[in-house]
Amino acid sequence: MTNKQDTRPIILLLGANGQVGWELRRSLSVIGQVIALDRHSKLYCGNLEAPSQIAQTILTLQPQVVVNAAAYTAVDKAEQESDKAYLINANAPLEIAKACQVVNAIMVHYSTDYVFDGSGQHARNESELCNPINLYGASKLAGEVAIQQNCSRHIIFRTSWVYAQRGSNFAKTMLRLAQEKTALNVINDQIGAPTGADLIADITAHVVRQTLSLNSNYGLYHLVADGYCSWFDYTQLVLSEAERLGKDLKVKSDQVMPIPSSAYPTAAKRPFNSRLDHQLLSNTFNLHLPTWQLGVKRLVQELCD
Ligand code: NDP
Repeated sequence: MTNKQDTRPIILLLGANGQVGWELRRSLSVIGQVIALDRHSKLYCGNLEAPSQIAQTILTLQPQVVVNAAAYTAVDKAEQESDKAYLINANAPLEIAKACQVVNAIMVHYSTDYVFDGSGQHARNESELCNPINLYGASKLAGEVAIQQNCSRHIIFRTSWVYAQRGSNFAKTMLRLAQEKTALNVINDQIGAPTGADLIADITAHVVRQTLSLNSNYGLYHLVADGYCSWFDYTQLVLSEAERLGKDLKVKSDQVMPIPSSAYPTAAKRPFNSRLDHQLLSNTFNLHLPTWQLGVKRLVQELCD
């Protein structure tokens, strides 16, 4: 697992098979020795439903960095599985944070636009009031607070509308539905920024490298692609790009129908305004956040190859 002769920092990665976790395996590997765990790992516990055992993993391995990409992400199901959502999204991060504090590790964690209520039209910055409107958002906010209160060297990235070539996500679902169905209705009154897991992972690596060398700039950052769109706009781009690449679709990009959220009831309420302001991240780490269109086009190219 770890190589004692290797002087690179040990980076413990939790949730290594998720959209973001999978990309982190790649991006973090140039910085340190990555120990990648998932909920089924045998040698060390990587199951966030066992928070004290996760803490034990950290105390045993004494990593310099812990990156937690694991989360309970089933937004609608969370309304019925409150205990499980809080265990994974709040209790486990609390125990991870405490263990990181003991071994003086940097803790990197991911949170969501769903900590906000989505009122208004503006892009929210990190200091704005949180007010989650669904259980998933509340459990993620509880995780944020637990980390902020228990681990001094923490980086929390709030992101939104995550997609990747690997795993399930909205873009892949729309591409499949456009090939199977004869009509597609998509919500056009929720606004946010589709953000690639590869972008999140690359920026995480950049920030971890800088933080390891400077030991500064800890805190909470909004990490999203630049610009905004509705789910409807997002679908149109996915389908038009697929058409351009020769994909045979039953529903063409200009045949998608925009609908209001009220026409598509879900168990969990969604915020209308998910715009996140990424200026703090860009300015602090001297980063350029690419437009959401750039990453989505790349995803569609990968999916259509
Ligand atoms: P995924 O759902 O793709 O990945 C989550 C990972 O967590 C999965 O590999 C899952 O494993 C793992 N996991 C779930 N329960 C446990 C457990 N008990 N023990 C160990 N691992 C577990 O999510 P993303 O990669 O998209 O999300 C990364 C982060 O970004 C999360 O913190 C999420 O809250 C946040 N985020 C995601 C958004 C999105 O649109 N997806 C939007 C905003 C924020 P398994 O597959 O075995 O269940």
